[in-house]
Amino acid sequence: MSAAARKDPAAVETEVREKIHLEILKRTGAYHANDHILLPSGQHTTEYIEKTLVTTEPSFTEGLGAVIAKHFAQWPIDMVLSTGPGALILSHCVARAHPSRPVVVYGTKGLSGGKRRVSLPVEFQRLIRPGVKILLVEDLVSTGSTLSLLINLVEQLGGLVVGIGCLWRRTSVDFADRPVFSLVSRDFPTYDPDKCPFCKRGIPLNEEFVRRRHHRKPSSVQEPKEV
Ligand SMILES: [Zn+2]
Repeated sequence: MSAAARKDPAAVETEVREKIHLEILKRTGAYHANDHILLPSGQHTTEYIEKTLVTTEPSFTEGLGAVIAKHFAQWPIDMVLSTGPGALILSHCVARAHPSRPVVVYGTKGLSGGKRRVSLPVEFQRLIRPGVKILLVEDLVSTGSTLSLLINLVEQLGGLVVGIGCLWRRTSVDFADRPVFSLVSRDFPTYDPDKCPFCKRGIPLNEEFVRRRHHRKPSSVQEPKEV
């Protein structure tokens, strides 16, 4: 008997569902595994998700958005809120499939005084009246810091965070008592370079993803000041 067969049926179902979703993400080319990868944090790992590719296939995104909407269908939702272009595409798909027909709004990420912050256009702030029920949608949840900033923002305006729906969550992230639903919950080890077992074995380090992120810095940073 395999290890999977000994588990309870609900756990097996979750496992199968996650595998299907992971395969869908693989089809977009976003998911990389079995590599020796440099992360933006400087740590090394074996798996990586290219965020920009996650929502490139509309039919996949719509299907995955519908799964998130179905999970939260039992709760009335007035608004779906996200930050970042990928999460916004996904949040549109979630809102479209949710029976409450929530509106879709988005915040923008930025830096202020060296600290990360999230802000909402004034037009959207006005929509968050006290008691408005909000579902937060994110594509990838790695540290959860963006979602924590969003939760603070919503609660300061009197809104209620009903839950958090995302495509991928590193399992170490938790948001107190707020329900989190992720299509794939998966964690993978990260290593300090001096303790990395793959470095010790002399396996070449893939720095491609960090380089790409660097190239995506705002155009004002890259372009020469005088043309
Ligand atoms: Zn390494």
